[in-house]
Amino acid sequence: MAARDQLRAHFLKNIGRVMKSGELRRVAGNITEWARRVRELRNEEGYQILTHNDRSDLKPGEYLLEEAKPRPAIARSISKELRAFILDRNGFTCQMCGAVAGEDHPYDTGRKTRLHIGHRIDISAGGDNSAGNLFAVCSVCNEGARNLTPDRPSVSKLLIQIRRASAKEQREVLAWLQKKYGRSKA
Ligand SMILES: [Zn+2]
Repeated sequence: MAARDQLRAHFLKNIGRVMKSGELRRVAGNITEWARRVRELRNEEGYQILTHNDRSDLKPGEYLLEEAKPRPAIARSISKELRAFILDRNGFTCQMCGAVAGEDHPYDTGRKTRLHIGHRIDISAGGDNSAGNLFAVCSVCNEGARNLTPDRPSVSKLLIQIRRASAKEQREVLAWLQKKYGRSKA
């Protein structure tokens, strides 16, 4: 049996059970492109195979088929133009932790921040790919903290944090704001 058929049969036998990538790779006969076959089941055949991108309680490498009946494939892809628009609108900054694209990540030392596009309401919960449902999120927050809300910090919360910071860090904040808004206007 072809790998995709093996995988489909296995998913249908294990509806509602979270499966790890190693199990699926074995089912597919240890072929390297097993993950592509899973994507085909989802995107071409419409099986609702969920991953950590769809549900916050799934970890990377976990897969779950919730129901046997395939549904018309949801358009999961976000166009390059829409992605660029969202990143620009969010100032190339993670809307959860404030990490800036290309700079060292504040909570993941040694790694440069990479931004993704996140959904405020997950696709699996009825969310869509409209601009209002999308926001910039770094890979760290995207992997670990999907249940955090991307609310902006209020002025009072920001000021509390800044007042607690060392003078050196306050001066860095000032320098950053001056760079952003221009010294004359500040
Ligand atoms: Zn983040």
